[in-house]
Amino acid sequence: MDTILVANAGSSSVKFQVFGISADGGLMRQIKGLMDGVGSRPRLRVTAVDGAALVDRTYESETVHDVATALATAGGWLREELKVDPIAIGHRVVHGGPDYDRAVLVDQDVLARLERYISLAPLHQPYNLAPIRSILARFPNLPQIACFDTAFHRGHGPLADHFAIPLALHAEGVRRYGFHGLSYEYIASALPQVAPEIAGKRVIVAHLGSGASMCALDQGRSIESTLGFTALDGLPMGTRPGQLDPGVVLYLLSEKGMSPGEVQNFLYRECGLKGLSGISNDMRELQGNSDPRAVFAVDYFVHRVGLNAGMLAAALQGIDGFVFTAGIGENSPQIRAAIAGKLAWLGVSLDAAANSENKLLISGRESQLPLYVIPTDEELMIARHTWSVLSHQSDKSVKYERVS
Ligand code: ADP
Repeated sequence: MDTILVANAGSSSVKFQVFGISADGGLMRQIKGLMDGVGSRPRLRVTAVDGAALVDRTYESETVHDVATALATAGGWLREELKVDPIAIGHRVVHGGPDYDRAVLVDQDVLARLERYISLAPLHQPYNLAPIRSILARFPNLPQIACFDTAFHRGHGPLADHFAIPLALHAEGVRRYGFHGLSYEYIASALPQVAPEIAGKRVIVAHLGSGASMCALDQGRSIESTLGFTALDGLPMGTRPGQLDPGVVLYLLSEKGMSPGEVQNFLYRECGLKGLSGISNDMRELQGNSDPRAVFAVDYFVHRVGLNAGMLAAALQGIDGFVFTAGIGENSPQIRAAIAGKLAWLGVSLDAAANSENKLLISGRESQLPLYVIPTDEELMIARHTWSVLSHQSDKSVKYERVS
């Protein structure tokens, strides 16, 4: 069976999955893997879909010193041990800039264009692109498809897309892009099956993980997002502040004598839940901690989700459903209950038992709005895009070169 490898490369880890393509073009998840501790204590873990462990192996730090090598090592293991020889690799790429409203087959020109957006997503983009560059050099005929977190939001109207700054800056790409698009696109694609009564209506989706944002879906299309030019805006996140008066950045530069690089590091790594609590960037740790700073950080997070829900409800001119997803959204009854409390003005009420069991539908019978918990699946979305680009490309006789 032909397979597609899906890769999500970060600064010190690469997550990957293998999907088989059935005779009728359906995608079947076969394998999940993670190589983490890259450069420090590299560890490869791979499981079958049923959760059975296939490997748990550590490597010398020098042998897996960067994420490109990490994916190459994982790919080598898949090839040698499981005879997985993918016909294409789909990569998560966080920033597609203004150019890409869909996934794209990567060549040298596309790659050069995507490298221009490194400064817009310094925590993600360089690591997303490094394995692509390395594979392109070694296997130039192996199709690699870049799937963007920004693409799903590219249909935003001008009011959602602009900052109130001179238009020339917008023209050169200083825009409100929005992120987590692969997650929102997956949720939009799942709604007709799991929540058909709201699929074609006005839905707010809250992707609450280490990175967090919210999206307004109108008939399955994104019309507004809380994230903007970079992945710093909107909701507070694990280590990022979310919405911040730009005057704070000026203050840090002029009054605190910080360099631009120091400010960047501060905004991406020292703020959010971590900065507020001084304890942890991890919601699990904070919600179980009675230290007043931890309590405040959690309250702040919930407060901002509530405020942003109001903003998105205004963008949609009403709201017919609310969806929680990602690590916090899928797993934390406590945070969901607190957020539902902030939505009480919309007539929302919670079914406490359903909520505590992470059920699909967690709103109470009398709630004027259904609340759903829908696990996201960005990897499946990447596999779908990859297969779609490949299917279209094969009309134009792209040659598939297998690695072995
Ligand atoms: P990302 O993919 O952005 O790294 P995730 O979607 O995996 O992030 O979400 C990670 C966040 O989810 C962390 O803050 C973690 O504490 C939180 N999380 C995971 N499980 C739970 C849980 N059971 N209760 C509360 N928070 C949780």
